[in-house]
Amino acid sequence: MSLNKKSVDDINVKGKRVLVRCDFNVPLKDGKITDETRINAALPTIQKLMNDGGKLILCSHLGKVKNGPNEGESLAPVAAALEAKLGKKVTFVSDYNVTGEAATAAVAAMNEGDVVLLQNTRFRGKEETKPQDAGEAFAKELADLADVYVCDAFGSAHRAHASVSVVTKYITEKGGENAVGYLMQKEIDFLGNAVEDPKRPFVAILGGAKVADKLNVINNLLEKADTLIIGGGMAYTFLKAQGYEIGKSMLDAEKIDYCKEMLAKAESLGKKILLPVDAVTIAEFPNPIDAPVETLVVDYDKMPADREGCDIGPKSQALFAEAVATAKTVVWNGPMGVFENPILAEGTLAVAKALAASDATTIIGGGDSAAAVNQMGLGDKMSHISTGGGASLEFLEGKTLPGVAAADDK
Ligand code: ATP
Repeated sequence: MSLNKKSVDDINVKGKRVLVRCDFNVPLKDGKITDETRINAALPTIQKLMNDGGKLILCSHLGKVKNGPNEGESLAPVAAALEAKLGKKVTFVSDYNVTGEAATAAVAAMNEGDVVLLQNTRFRGKEETKPQDAGEAFAKELADLADVYVCDAFGSAHRAHASVSVVTKYITEKGGENAVGYLMQKEIDFLGNAVEDPKRPFVAILGGAKVADKLNVINNLLEKADTLIIGGGMAYTFLKAQGYEIGKSMLDAEKIDYCKEMLAKAESLGKKILLPVDAVTIAEFPNPIDAPVETLVVDYDKMPADREGCDIGPKSQALFAEAVATAKTVVWNGPMGVFENPILAEGTLAVAKALAASDATTIIGGGDSAAAVNQMGLGDKMSHISTGGGASLEFLEGKTLPGVAAADDK
């Protein structure tokens, strides 16, 4: 997949109708937005297109919309928040059909720099989420509203939805252009290029709970990285595969053979897999998860049968930090231990600090590790923190993201 995609800097939108797929999937409580991060993140692309004289038709999904269109999942609160932030009228088309007469009329009345927001795209059900089964009518209707399409919804880029990728086919058919916005561009530049064309040494760090959840990520990063560090719960299945006692630590029994295969593959490729050399162990898993626990640090080959490894120990922290210190690119996904408990968060903190201190390009692949880094106040020390957990994992798996692939090549 070419990652050299047309961006909003490469297209001329003056006087044109521009359909912009945003990620306005904000958390709501009692009809109020509780976190506006995603709206703020969308502003640079929107402002750029407004300043360039485009007529902006914004669209997004919000929530899962399991029981059909409803006011609780309407984009109305987003329209109000956007209006305040842009200091400009945002015409909200509240029609649950998303496209149709009301949308067409609102778009027809637009001048350069005007902004229209369509209703929640998931109100069209399977026409949005499963166009391959439900047909492409909705995608075509969206394209009919516009001359140009811009995708800036990285959190949805791994989904072949009507408003994310299928719409581009109909824009192309009518001679229009498909570009990515600044948010998408940044994700492609960091995550995509780190995996496809990294500055070396390239160190990938994986953690989190289970091997089973990240089979393709492990396999792909083993091929792409020079060193693959594995911590967190998933490290114990690797240690078990090497024949070590792991006590009551997290085990994916069905994946022991897979881990053996990966260890053998690393050897044949001349790559390093770094596993923890010591563990912070506990006797009983804390309940609630952040309750005080008594810990005992043991070496990896001395794990007592009645204890559970819940964090990497100080020797592992030093070993992993040393690998990070010599790297030019570091990608990290998944915590090193049960970081929800402050006593078991030391390993995750140590890795976050090692990345913060490094001169390498440091990339956090969303999810729990992004939350951990932000919680520790180290967010601004990283080169990039991905905004899409699912989408970033698929990038790390080496998959082609429909929302990225659908944009025109430069
Ligand atoms: P997500 O995929 O949800 O965005 P992630 O990829 O960062 O997050 P997960 O695979 O979901 O990570 O795993 C995170 C969970 O793993 C945390 O809740 C953490 O407590 C747990 N975890 C990490 N290490 C261990 C361990 N040694 N034993 C048990 N649980 C662990």
